[in-house]
Amino acid sequence: MSRRSRKRRKRFSCRHRGFGQYCHRCASQQGLKQAKMKARQLERQQWEATFAEDQIDLRRLPRSIVLKTRRLLATLQQGVGYWQLGGKRLHQEREAIKIPVTDRYRLLCGQENGEIAPLKVLSHEDYNPLVRSKRRILSSFLSRGSRKG
Ligand SMILES: [Zn+2]
Repeated sequence: MSRRSRKRRKRFSCRHRGFGQYCHRCASQQGLKQAKMKARQLERQQWEATFAEDQIDLRRLPRSIVLKTRRLLATLQQGVGYWQLGGKRLHQEREAIKIPVTDRYRLLCGQENGEIAPLKVLSHEDYNPLVRSKRRILSSFLSRGSRKG
């Protein structure tokens, strides 16, 4: 660093001292902040893009639940039985199956021609009123067209 006289240093509006037209300390801080923001934005875009490949819509779920559900879906696709994953048929609707994702989240599936079709991930809060309601659970999801072809 060159030794310039103290006299030429000025105080900028940010109260830092330095040379030149603007405060380089603040400018580099600003640049760092912008780079961080850009990186975060990119990371977010990349995360958003991953949802396009999911069998069912997993947006709006916590990240850890999304990742766990993806592993579960992949395991199901490999032909592992739902019962091996702790899944159970619903008492009130035998063709509906729930598979635990975590303690709080369940993957709701339907069964078509003996094949498991994932429908939706439900939290306890979503799930309990649904089970208590008189409405058929599967039809409420199938008619909504939330499934992807
Ligand atoms: Zn400054």
